[in-house]
Amino acid sequence: MTATIPETTGLTGQMLIAGTPVRGTGTPIHALNPATGETLEPAYHYGDASNVDAACAAAAEAFPAYRATTAEARAQFLEAIAANIEAAKDAIIARATAESGLPTARITGEVGRTTGQLRLFAAVLREGSWNHAVIDPAQPDRQPAPRPDIRQRSIPLGPVAVFGASNFPLAFSVAGGDTASALAAGCPVVVKGHDAHPGTSELVGRAITDAVAASGLPAGTFSLLFGDGPDLGTALVTDPRIKAVGFTGSRSGGTALVAAAARRPEPIPVYAEMSSINPVFLLDGALATRGADLGKAFVASLTMGSGQFCTNPGLVIAVDGAGLDAFVTAARDALADAPATPMLTPGIATNYTTGVDALGKHAELVGRGQAAETECACHAALFTTDAATFLKSEALQDEIFGASSLIVRCKDAAEMRAVVDNIEGQLTATVHADESDFDAARDLLPTLELKAGRILFDGWPTGVEVNYAMVHGGPYPATSDSRSTSVGARAIERFLRPVCYQDVPKALLPSVLTDDNPDQLWRRIDGQLTRD
Ligand code: NAP
Repeated sequence: MTATIPETTGLTGQMLIAGTPVRGTGTPIHALNPATGETLEPAYHYGDASNVDAACAAAAEAFPAYRATTAEARAQFLEAIAANIEAAKDAIIARATAESGLPTARITGEVGRTTGQLRLFAAVLREGSWNHAVIDPAQPDRQPAPRPDIRQRSIPLGPVAVFGASNFPLAFSVAGGDTASALAAGCPVVVKGHDAHPGTSELVGRAITDAVAASGLPAGTFSLLFGDGPDLGTALVTDPRIKAVGFTGSRSGGTALVAAAARRPEPIPVYAEMSSINPVFLLDGALATRGADLGKAFVASLTMGSGQFCTNPGLVIAVDGAGLDAFVTAARDALADAPATPMLTPGIATNYTTGVDALGKHAELVGRGQAAETECACHAALFTTDAATFLKSEALQDEIFGASSLIVRCKDAAEMRAVVDNIEGQLTATVHADESDFDAARDLLPTLELKAGRILFDGWPTGVEVNYAMVHGGPYPATSDSRSTSVGARAIERFLRPVCYQDVPKALLPSVLTDDNPDQLWRRIDGQLTRD
């Protein structure tokens, strides 16, 4: 069935290259409403190498002028994008809800998160510590040799390629965290939109394009392309004018892009956020006092958004006993009531079913959620195994994207430690602990620090705050570069690099490094932080 998009959205099915709508000449794709199976108009035609070339050429041409803008000008630009998204909110919410099958309330919340991220980076720009301004003044009388004047600051890398994520059609797509942090850093952005939500991508792309024009910025500051990942996506990452990449998606997609970037004559960084199963540790005291409550709360986190969160709790680890039995029983009962909700795309739904079937060959089924006949429905699943089996099978650590989780029963604390030592890098590690568990938790923490980007207590990993302290990252395979975060203020650092200026004449220094400190920035002078 083909539905007509309401006139108000005025979708054209075109890419946006440096401010100009461009109709691709390749394969046409349509978005699909995974909740109803409806095909959504209009068609989006894939772009080709000539479109990648045009977008990258424009980005490279825009870079000198864009990076020369003041932090205040870029902050106002980010705020203008946020305002444009808010002005188009009704159309964006209607289209994103139809394209994702996610509830309107979730998508409405995501609009708020997206505009909040843009405004957070505006605040980051104004606060100024992203400059990393450092001055070690000359010491002409130092013995045995004089010290030169050395000053350091951070500068943007250059044009950045961003791959929109399927599971956050707004907050991690066209104007999502990667785009916001790259634009804040002073980098033009070329987005490869995700096929799951091309209409949402066009609407948000327009909000950015309009803000570029209204802010008097070079048109090449932003482009939006559609196309096949291995073809157009690889062409984008290997274009010599692209200097860094932001990606969220599968391990296979992320590692393919890392490899493509590494093969370039000039290799570039790829910040890929990939797979994580987000272990949850239930310690004895917590299980004894609230095992059943934890079981219910766990299922709420597991099934939220059909489990399509990179922080979905896909692994639960505990020592066997009555507390764990109570947890499992409550989780099984809560799961039985969990309705089948749509997954984002037929492909993601198929991957989920394949993953659950494979897990069922290695682990014992505890319970399932409600089933549904629709193509994209997520039939939630919960499995259990013992620690000895888990330690022997790498397949039990594979991410199943969706509402599936595995409970690992350990004989004792020593076996739990062996499981912790064995798990791969993760975005999050969660601990449920009562005060009686603090010694065990203290033992666990140093290992969890080495395994995960975010450690949380007595909560659930789904739901990521966007602020100055957040880390959404972690060792491989959670990400391709554990030194960074893709959410929160420090995401800007991925697109900056340090430069130092030795004995550069004062008249030629950038203003953030001049002696008079015109912007009253916090700077490190001779080792001391000061605004003087
Ligand atoms: P994906 O297949 O990795 O695709 C993400 C983006 O990367 C798309 O634009 C895709 O383009 C592109 N891409 C994929 N493989 C590529 C390659 N070899 N070379 C160049 N570009 C490539 O992720 P998805 O479509 O969002 O979902 C598929 C699976 O990814 C899910 O079932 C799930 O397992 C996983 N996933 C994980 C997370 C997470 O947060 N951990 C989030 C989303 C998805 P094309 O669509 O044209 O291929």
